[in-house]
Amino acid sequence: MDHALRTRRGLLVVLSSPSGAGKSTIGRKLMEEDPTITMSISATTRPMRPGEVADVDYHFVDEAQFQELVDTDELAEWAYVFGYRYGSPKEPIKDALKAGRDTLFDIDWQGTQQLEYAFRTDLVRIFILPPSMAELERRLTGRGTDGEDVIDYRMKRAAAEIGHWAEYDYVLINEDVDQCTKKVQAIVAAERLRRERQPYLLDFVRNLVEKPN
Ligand code: GDP
Ligand code: ADP
Repeated sequence: MDHALRTRRGLLVVLSSPSGAGKSTIGRKLMEEDPTITMSISATTRPMRPGEVADVDYHFVDEAQFQELVDTDELAEWAYVFGYRYGSPKEPIKDALKAGRDTLFDIDWQGTQQLEYAFRTDLVRIFILPPSMAELERRLTGRGTDGEDVIDYRMKRAAAEIGHWAEYDYVLINEDVDQCTKKVQAIVAAERLRRERQPYLLDFVRNLVEKPN
């Protein structure tokens, strides 16, 4: 019987990075290899990109709908990023925590700080750095989802985002995407085993020493 999956709370694993450093790619690989991990689907006022799927990549909403989510307290955090509003729905987080399901967040430093106030003990914060600014620009360009002006703007914002690296528990340089994904998997595996995340241990150890045979 897997006690850990049955009784521990879910982890809230945050991946932050400057745009284009690879967090969506790493998140996708992580979920492919461990289907018990689910991605938090954010609401955003950003227009849908070609290839994106509504309610899979994001819940695409207009300003009024986003404001309604804020007013009715349905978001665990929200922030303006690159001129649009982005936020994480609260209800799925609460459900996952209770069910012991781990949730992945692709959110920025502002959202991470807000989750910290609400969910500190469940939060694992990972910051992804690009190997260089030139490589970051190559990745943004190579992704082919944004025009030159959007890429320029994101490159200008990259240094500010990187400036928050020291607020995270783990910092990884995404040189090789498979190796970086393995490191994230190692972090998740270790965090699941933290003593305070295994509440059944108290009973298990008591049983162990009281009934040695
Ligand atoms: P991409 O990260 O370059 O693919 O561009 P996106 O437009 O998808 O995301 C832009 C930024 O918004 C990224 O830094 C995301 O991490 C961040 N972001 C996405 N969803 C959320 C959210 O729900 N809350 C917050 N605070 N940031 C978010
Ligand atoms: P983010 O979600 O951080 O904005 P993405 O995951 O969309 O970044 O990655 C941006 C682009 O860089 C994508 O085209 C992706 O395939 C590519 N990429 C991600 N990681 C690497 C890597 N380690 N080496 C080369 N290209 C990468």
